[in-house]
Amino acid sequence: MLEIKGLGHTYADGHRAVDGIDLEVDRGELVSLVGPSGCGKSTLLRCVAGLVRPTEGAVVVNGEPVSDVPADLAVVFQDYTRSLFPWLTVRDNVALPLRRRGLGRAERREAACAALDEVGLGSAARKYPWQLSGGMQQRAAIARALAYRPSFLLMDEPFGSVDAQTKEDLEDLILSVRAGTGMTILLVTHDIDESVYVGDRVVVLTGSPGRVHSDLRVELPSPRD
Ligand code: ADP
Ligand code: ADP
Repeated sequence: MLEIKGLGHTYADGHRAVDGIDLEVDRGELVSLVGPSGCGKSTLLRCVAGLVRPTEGAVVVNGEPVSDVPADLAVVFQDYTRSLFPWLTVRDNVALPLRRRGLGRAERREAACAALDEVGLGSAARKYPWQLSGGMQQRAAIARALAYRPSFLLMDEPFGSVDAQTKEDLEDLILSVRAGTGMTILLVTHDIDESVYVGDRVVVLTGSPGRVHSDLRVELPSPRD
């Protein structure tokens, strides 16, 4: 269980990004965060990731503040150019975090290749990131996050650089991995269709500083059914 309690954040330059955010996310839930540019979606995600320490309130995981919790999360950012290590092959990029899972070298490579196959990058496993298109690098970053099988998966506009068909395939892949593992997912997107298709809930932030405007449970059948 993830609890965001009275979360507010003012950046060092005095810019107030979010204010009074309260949100509870159950284990295995996928919550889409939507709202206009600048309403604090990324800031909220970074607070949950522990990358930004909020100036007020707290993010609590299973009763412990996030700064005290051993990280069992993966983050996928929009900016794929800073996601992958350029000196490692795509396979080794995906395999690297699996050391923390205590897997041996052969097992890490096997899991990495399986995840790359899932995102349609099996044939690029031995290439270096700079040999791949932007969309392929982003798919590799998603493969790395999924291979790690984290308890929490945080994604900030992850499909910005992939084509429409790949985006649909990746959305379905994320849903099927979630179904198999029960990972809890927060997805920041500006795409309302996407937010409704993948989300169990759609949380709308608005304003500056951003606040929760609405928190909608998605009860509709999937639009692709
Ligand atoms: P969103 O993801 O919804 O576009 P952000 O969380 O990126 O919103 O930004 C919320 C507000 O905080 C924006 O006005 C943005 O300019 C500002 N902001 C984001 N990062 C920083 C930062 N590191 N320092 C100062 N202001 C920031
Ligand atoms: P987003 O795509 O989430 O809206 P932006 O394009 O607004 O993000 O910001 C890109 C990067 O610049 C982020 O790392 C953000 O933290 C930083 N940033 C945004 N606004 C500001 C700001 N006013 N001052 C400092 N850094 C900022």
